[in-house]
Amino acid sequence: MLPADRLRDKLLTLEGKGYAAYKAIAGAYRFPRFVLFIDRVQPDPFAPPSLLRVRVDMAEAQVPSDLWDGATRRVAMEDFLARRFREVTRRQGRRGGGPGRSGVLLVDAGGQEILPRTACRLHEDFVELRLALGLPAEGRKIQARQAQAIFFEDLPAAVEGALLWANLDARAARRHVEVAEDHAALQDALRTRGLVAFVAEGAILPRESGASDLPLSPHRAVPFRAPPQLAVTLHLPHRGALGGMGIPAGVTLIVGGGFHGKSTLLAALARGVYPHVPGDGREYVATHPDTVKIRAEDGRRVARVDISPFITNLPFGQDTQAFSTDNASGSTSQAANIMEALEVGARVLLIDEDTSATNFMIRDEAMQRLVPKALEPITPFIDQVRHLYQAHGLSTVLVMGGSGDYFSVADTVILMEAFTPRVVTEEARRIAAARPAGRVSEGRPFERVRARIPLPHGFNPYRERRVRVDARGLRTVVFGRETIDLSAVEQVVDPSQTRAIGDAIFYALEKGYFDGERPLAAVLDAVLTDIAQRGLEVLSGFEGHPGDYALPRRYEVAAAINRLRTLAVRQVE
Ligand code: ADP
Ligand code: MG
Repeated sequence: MLPADRLRDKLLTLEGKGYAAYKAIAGAYRFPRFVLFIDRVQPDPFAPPSLLRVRVDMAEAQVPSDLWDGATRRVAMEDFLARRFREVTRRQGRRGGGPGRSGVLLVDAGGQEILPRTACRLHEDFVELRLALGLPAEGRKIQARQAQAIFFEDLPAAVEGALLWANLDARAARRHVEVAEDHAALQDALRTRGLVAFVAEGAILPRESGASDLPLSPHRAVPFRAPPQLAVTLHLPHRGALGGMGIPAGVTLIVGGGFHGKSTLLAALARGVYPHVPGDGREYVATHPDTVKIRAEDGRRVARVDISPFITNLPFGQDTQAFSTDNASGSTSQAANIMEALEVGARVLLIDEDTSATNFMIRDEAMQRLVPKALEPITPFIDQVRHLYQAHGLSTVLVMGGSGDYFSVADTVILMEAFTPRVVTEEARRIAAARPAGRVSEGRPFERVRARIPLPHGFNPYRERRVRVDARGLRTVVFGRETIDLSAVEQVVDPSQTRAIGDAIFYALEKGYFDGERPLAAVLDAVLTDIAQRGLEVLSGFEGHPGDYALPRRYEVAAAINRLRTLAVRQVE
C-alpha cells in the first residue's frame, strides 16, 4: 500500500498525456481516513468506467453493530450507506470531460427495492464501498488535475458524509433497517397465518408513471383500505400491530371494472417479494417469497417442458409431455411459464388478464358447445386452478375483469372499486350457483411436475473465443452468442440482478453444476447456497472490485436459463 501522496505525484506526471497512461495509478493508497483501491483502470475514455473501492476502518466509521447484525439488517444497512453515498456524490456533480457520466463517482445503490448487493460491504473491521469512475479526459488526453480533485476532494468529502456514522442521519438509518426487518417479519407471518400476501392499511400502490417506480404523489393516490372480511392485524418487531388485507392461500380472484386498480394491486403483490425503501408506499406490502408472476410470452423458446396439464393433442402430433418449440404461442408459453415455475418451487402464481392469452384462461359454455373438447388442445386454466391448489399446494391470485366463469372456482373474490377492495365472494357464489349448469369442467388431474436436467453442452459462454457474459439493461442477458430476453420476466427489478443472473449461469457452468445429472432446481440450490455462504462476490472471477451485482431469486435465474435458446435438457424419468 502506498501513501496517498504517491497517487498525487503520479497524477501530476500524467497531465495532458494519452489516456492509456492512466493505468499507472492502479494500486492501493492510504488516505487519512480510508484506503483507496484502484482495481481496474479503463484503457480509454469510452471503455467501461474504472473500478475503485474505498475502505474505512470500522474504528473510524463506527457504524453501530446492532444495526447490522444478522443478514436482514446487514443488507439493509449496506443498502442505506450506498444510497447515502450516491446522494452525496450526486450533489458534488461532475469534474472534467469525457463521455457519459465520466468525472462522477458512481455507486450501484439500487432502486426502490432493498436487495442484497455488492455495492457496499460491512465487515467487522471495515466498511467498503465499491465504486466506478470514468476518469476525466479531454478528447483522449488525461485531465490529471480533475482526477486529482475527485480523489483528493470529492472522495474524502463523500466518505466523510456517507460512511462516518457521526455524520449520518441515525434515525433514517434505523428506519431503513427496521422497514426491511419488518418486511421479513411480514413474510414470516404470512406463513404462520396461511396467507399468501398482505397489504397494509394506507399503503400507496400506484406508481408515478409506467417509466417511474416512485410512488404516485400523495394528493393523487388513494391509500389502500382493507376490506373488513379480509382484515388481519400482524405484529411486527418495529412497527408493532399493523392492520391490512391478508389474502388467504387458495384461489383468489380480483375483479372490477377497467381502471379501478386491479393491475396496480397485482403489480404491487409481484414486487412484494422484496422489501422497499422507506417512503416507497409499499414498505408493508409483502408476498410469499415463492410468488411468481406468470404471463403469456409468445415467441419464447421452450425446451422439453411437460405442458400436458394444459395442452394435449396438438395438431401434427407434437409431444406436449416434453414440449419444445422455438416460437411458443400465447397459450403454450403461458403453460410453460407455469410448469417451469412449479418445477423450481413456486407456491403462488400471480396472473393478470391484461398479459394472459385469452384461450389459455377461459373457454366458455357457448364455445364448448360449438367446438368440442376433442378439437381443442387447450385445457383452460380455469379447469386446472383448483387442482393446482388442492394437489400441488399452489395458490393463485388472478385479475379477471372479463369473465365470471371464474366465480365458481374461487375461494375469495375481491372487487376493486375506485382503487378500494371489497369482498364479494358470497355474491359471486350466488351468481354462479343461480346460473344453469352450462360449462363443463375439462380439467384432468395431474400427479407430478416433471423435473428437467440441463445438459452442459447447451451452454456456450464464448463468442469469438472469449467469454462474453453480460447484461444489457434490465431485461437482456448476453450469454456467448445468445441474448436472453427477460422482457416478460417481471420480477427482475434491478439491472444488477440481470448482471448477476448472467454471471450465475456462467458460475454454475464453471463449477460443473450443469453436470448432466442434477435437475435444474438442484443447480439453483447449489448456486444460491454458495452465494448465501460466501456472498454475491463468488459470481465475480476478479479479485478486488467484484462488479455490480444484486441478488436475483431462483425463479428469475431459472427463467433466464429456460429462455436460453441453446438450452438442452433431459427430463427426469
Ligand atoms: P385496472 O387493471 O383495474 O384496469 P389499473 O390498475 O391499471 O386498473 O389502474 C388504472 C389507473 O389508475 C392507473 O393509471 C393507475 O396508476 C391508477 N391507480 C391505480 N391505483 C390507484 C390508487 N390507489 N390511487 C390512484 N390511482 C391509482
Ligand atoms: Mg388491468
